[in-house]
Amino acid sequence: MHVLVLGAGQLARMMSLAGAPLNLTLTAYDVTTCTVVHPLTQVARPQTLEQAIADADVITAEFEHIPHDILEICEQSGKFFPTSLAIKAGGDRRIEKTLLDGAGVRNAAYAIINTRADFDQAIETVGIPMVLKSALGGYDGKGQWRLKDRAQAGAIWTEMQACLNDSKQQAIVAEQFVPFQREVSLVGARNHQGDIETYPLAENIHIGGVLSLSTAIDAPQLQTQAETMFAAVADSLDYVGVLALEFFDIDGDLLVNEIAPRVHNSGHWTQQGAEICQFENHLRAVCGLPLGSTKLVRETAMINILGEDSLPPEIMAMEGCHIHWYGKSQRPGRKMGHINLTADYPGQLQRKLCEIAKYLDKAAFPAVHQIAHDIQD
Ligand code: AMP
Repeated sequence: MHVLVLGAGQLARMMSLAGAPLNLTLTAYDVTTCTVVHPLTQVARPQTLEQAIADADVITAEFEHIPHDILEICEQSGKFFPTSLAIKAGGDRRIEKTLLDGAGVRNAAYAIINTRADFDQAIETVGIPMVLKSALGGYDGKGQWRLKDRAQAGAIWTEMQACLNDSKQQAIVAEQFVPFQREVSLVGARNHQGDIETYPLAENIHIGGVLSLSTAIDAPQLQTQAETMFAAVADSLDYVGVLALEFFDIDGDLLVNEIAPRVHNSGHWTQQGAEICQFENHLRAVCGLPLGSTKLVRETAMINILGEDSLPPEIMAMEGCHIHWYGKSQRPGRKMGHINLTADYPGQLQRKLCEIAKYLDKAAFPAVHQIAHDIQD
């Protein structure tokens, strides 16, 4: 079968690698350059998007910021999974919030801001402290403001106004600040028949809004809550493919922060830690193949490589250390690759995290150093 992926980044690359053993061949459409490319080499193919759509058996997406006209063309072909509504919900926080409310899933109290009057009202209804997020185009903590004190309102409004002036479609979502203990996420797959398979939860550490470290955890009570919310969201969208839900854990109660209608960075650990990884399961779901087991086979932690294009050889030599580079040119803070560190049992994984920290730069890998410090304390 031939699959066209909208988006040509590392997620399309890893999908392509996972699909090869099943004879699933992938082509990617780079939405920024409007070219059809090879998902591994990025070499352009002499094809228009329309030709690539005609050639594909199935069309899917690896990111949510896709122009709506492209989504419509793909959906009209009848080959696109998940639906364009699911993709739009991932790319527009207003749609996301409406969807979560409609599915009866707990999320942070919020208000939509288009004008200064809306902002003043949100300060009253949502309250301070407050997190303000651009509705469109924001990810990895970009396009966000924190209002901790009423005195900051004027300065923050000036910045938000500039953001609102960028596009008529833009708005700001004001969200109650959630005093969470930790962040976790659930990645799972739903097929055409509505069957769902979810992976174990991952605990995630973000630094500056960007995922730094993600570890599969065994938390039965949280897992049950997360799976219930996952099913509510996935069923409400008649979702087909891999979906990720990010949560705040407040004293054992989960609140959804975000949904990602695609394979997710916090699911990269499944490449080594689960029976069938998220990339293969996404392809299985959209291609109408049986879903694969999501069972944990090894304790695994995923370390994002941000802005670095090489690692000390001692890391590659470590047992249970799997390096995945994305073939990108170096830029500060850019997601360049990740490391999946595996172990036979949790205590061994902790020891390995302490060991790997010795070889990793503190500034580039702050979460690993923080964890190693906490473990050794
Ligand atoms: P997001 O882009 O919505 O995932 O936000 C990036 C990061 O900001 C999250 O991973 C949280 O660490 C933090 N954050 C987002 N929303 C809130 C909130 N309502 N309360 C507290 N922290 C938040």
